[in-house]
Amino acid sequence: MNYIDQPIGAQKRIALVAHDNRKASLIEWCLQHRGVLEQHQLLGTGTTGTQIEAATGMAVEKLFSGPMGGDQQLGARICQGEVDILVFFWDPFEPMPHDPDVKALLRIAAVWNIPVACNASSADMMIHSALMTRSFPRQVPDYQGYLAERKGEIVA
Ligand code: PGA
Repeated sequence: MNYIDQPIGAQKRIALVAHDNRKASLIEWCLQHRGVLEQHQLLGTGTTGTQIEAATGMAVEKLFSGPMGGDQQLGARICQGEVDILVFFWDPFEPMPHDPDVKALLRIAAVWNIPVACNASSADMMIHSALMTRSFPRQVPDYQGYLAERKGEIVA
């Protein structure tokens, strides 16, 4: 796989997702960092997004609820280059039945090289980064090049 440049912009599109036992922590984190978060665009899975909006007053674009496909919608947004940061407070004490969804979302975030935080201290490090307020370079898979290379492999 070849890689191409696709910088992350100064204003970030931040995805917020938390499993039920981790929602209170994520809401608390959002309240602590509201001053920074409100300078960016927020999106999230259905219940997480609804609860963050209610608790903080910040606008959050809400996808479907996770169990109804919201995680997968988010994965599609990441593939399409529409998410810059993933803050995903998954529940390490009750990994099932979420495990396949956790793997899928973390995997696609790794493929598309977006910053990911799975707990409050990682998210703190991220939000205090100087890169939060400016654009920075990022490499992503050259998917168009990959397709062009594979065209020749198809046998009629
Ligand atoms: P929810 O989904 O925000 O709709 O609860 C989160 C998840 O289960 O991944």
